[in-house]
Amino acid sequence: MTAASASPSPSLQEIASCVAGYDPNALPVAQAQEFIARLVPRVQAVEMLAIRSALGRVLARDIVSAINVPAHDNSAMDGYALRGADLSPDADTELQVVGTGFAGQQFVGGTVARGHCVRIMTGAVMPAGLDTVVPQEFVKSLGDKGNDRIRVPAGIVRTGDNRRLAGEDLARGEAALSAGRLLRPADLGLLASLGQAEVPVLRRLRVAFFSTGDELRSIGEPLAAGCVYDSNRYTLWGMLQRLGVELIDLGVVRDEPAALEAAFRSAAETADAVITSGGVSVGEADHTKQVMARLGDVLFWRIAMRPGRPMAIGRISSSADGTRSAILFGLPGNPVAVMVTFYAFVRDALLAMSGTTAAPLPMLRAACVSAIRKKPGRTEYQRGIVSRSADGAWRVEITGSQGSGILRSMSQANGLVVLHHEQGNVEAGGLVDVLPFDGLV
Ligand code: AMP
Ligand code: MG
Repeated sequence: MTAASASPSPSLQEIASCVAGYDPNALPVAQAQEFIARLVPRVQAVEMLAIRSALGRVLARDIVSAINVPAHDNSAMDGYALRGADLSPDADTELQVVGTGFAGQQFVGGTVARGHCVRIMTGAVMPAGLDTVVPQEFVKSLGDKGNDRIRVPAGIVRTGDNRRLAGEDLARGEAALSAGRLLRPADLGLLASLGQAEVPVLRRLRVAFFSTGDELRSIGEPLAAGCVYDSNRYTLWGMLQRLGVELIDLGVVRDEPAALEAAFRSAAETADAVITSGGVSVGEADHTKQVMARLGDVLFWRIAMRPGRPMAIGRISSSADGTRSAILFGLPGNPVAVMVTFYAFVRDALLAMSGTTAAPLPMLRAACVSAIRKKPGRTEYQRGIVSRSADGAWRVEITGSQGSGILRSMSQANGLVVLHHEQGNVEAGGLVDVLPFDGLV
């Protein structure tokens, strides 16, 4: 983007001043989400893709139908096309069969006369003069070959039944799909029905990620005393993969200013967003926070949530003169906190950056099997197992230990119980919101 075409990005202070009740040291989840929504830019570059390659991609422009789909009135059933006006209102009607209409062919017999009908297949063009189809199973065949007649029982069809109108799926000139749409299987079919081979989509978002912390070891390395394997890069990889973004894995980065700076600079050089885990807690002795602050415009938040209180947010520059910058999501290091903060903040932000508006995640209302203690004034995310009770209602059971380092709780769970900011204790049997994992893109 040239300086002339780019609208200047608001500073973090400007964004903060737009968020009512902004307090970086006790930021409610909703305010943090609003801040991030104002911060993130949307990708601009457009590429043309064959429709099958466009699944999960974001449509760059409205698609307007150049044709009527279907092109002609046609039959929705196998049966007999007739003229509704020929049907007697209160007696059976007998009609003479004068031909057959096949799918993919125009009926050759011209306009059909009164008292006549045409045997017709599903999808066949309605013969001129006819407006109604009676399914074959309702009809009694009289006569024999060469002199085919049918009897239509009284009241079985009304004028216009079982006829699909030209353009009823898509009318010529109508917007078939709007820009910003995340293309799903039905959309590919819709594009194909317009005869469209290629589709303009926004380029894929590029997301770099790395783990920080001197105690981290990569798989394959020996695990020295006091060390843990880096698991966050794998959960992050999985969650990002589901979003369909392009991934740049920068590995585990040692707690050395030069190594951290090199990783951040390279991320900002190539990626739209950089996600780190670890090193953003208040008491952190390591260099991560200092390097983040030095290389960009970064805020360190304490969010009113559990797990996942600390988080860094802002922009990191690729070089001292800031030629390019990437949005930074500095997530906490605890394995559960990484996932929770990703779903609470990063997922929607990355979708917005990809150019699509994320539909709010669908929540279930489930009866909580046991009581939960909860203080108003922060949002809590507990891991739970949702299931259907015998009566068909949803119920949820909290998985064992809820410690933010216990990744097993996340693996056992099939959803997150969301206890909202103002919510207090929940009694056994009380209804709570649950965010099911299945279906998270
Ligand atoms: P931090 O946010 O850096 O204070 O880390 C909090 C906790 O999460 C510490 O116990 C870390 O060892 C752990 N942790 C940090 N990063 C990772 C990671 N990538 N994989 C597994 N555990 C981590
Ligand atoms: Mg650390």
